[in-house]
Amino acid sequence: MKLTIECLKNVLKRPFTQKYPKERPEIPSRLRGKHVYDKDKCVYCGLCARYCPSNAISVNREKKEWSVDIGKCLFCEQCAEVCPTKCLVLGCEFEIAEVDKGKFVFRG
Ligand code: SF4
Ligand code: SF4
Repeated sequence: MKLTIECLKNVLKRPFTQKYPKERPEIPSRLRGKHVYDKDKCVYCGLCARYCPSNAISVNREKKEWSVDIGKCLFCEQCAEVCPTKCLVLGCEFEIAEVDKGKFVFRG
């Protein structure tokens, strides 16, 4: 009897799960999502690439090129922490699934 009452109570409660993707979930303020990179502030020092544990970042100082392969990224945020100009942060974009692996490379 006690079990039946408990079941009935739960049937009437709102579900704890979020209805994603039907409804946009609440984004935590400290979410580590897709990189946000400001090319104008980058000094191409290469520190982000040096500290990246998965070799996801490439920096070419001569050509002033910067890119990250999000398919390799662990979202640890070390690259953003070591960036001296803070031109690199991990933003709130988390819907980054792709079928084509080439689309994971984001060039600044
Ligand atoms: S650490 Fe920052 S300034 Fe240096 S190359 Fe990376 S993004 Fe650019
Ligand atoms: S978040 Fe971590 S794994 Fe991803 S690019 Fe930055 S340092 Fe590399």
